[in-house]
Amino acid sequence: MKCKVCGEEFDSSQYYKDTKDAMDEHQMCFYCNLWKEKIEQDAQQPPHKVAIIDGVHYYIDDENVVSEFRGFGGDKFVIHFNDGTDVITTNLWCQGDIPPQWRDKFPDNAKFDWQWKKIGNNNYLVPKEIEEIPDSLIAQAETNIGI
Ligand SMILES: [Zn+2]
Repeated sequence: MKCKVCGEEFDSSQYYKDTKDAMDEHQMCFYCNLWKEKIEQDAQQPPHKVAIIDGVHYYIDDENVVSEFRGFGGDKFVIHFNDGTDVITTNLWCQGDIPPQWRDKFPDNAKFDWQWKKIGNNNYLVPKEIEEIPDSLIAQAETNIGI
């Protein structure tokens, strides 16, 4: 079947039944179906839980959650929502770039002082004021990903 959103050919038969049924019903590939479902999930969230920044989708999870796993390893971010609310989080999760076909459904609603930069083959979130990535950070990234 051809995805009615992005035009990619897809085969829903390799997915679990619930996912397969949704893909068939919506005539969408796995990824487009995920973004469609995200629209519905986001609508259920209280304000200031979902942040769209520069076309990237983030979720601000519970600050008090008892888990050793925190988004971005527990790094602290200040999210400036466009309505003037600032949210400080140490449990931010990133769901990735919103594909162009879905971009108008997910308008930016916030800003922060970070940007994605490509180092080697990976993307890293670095402070916006950094124009050039310092060698020390590149060396660290290369160690982490084993270039
Ligand atoms: Zn698609």
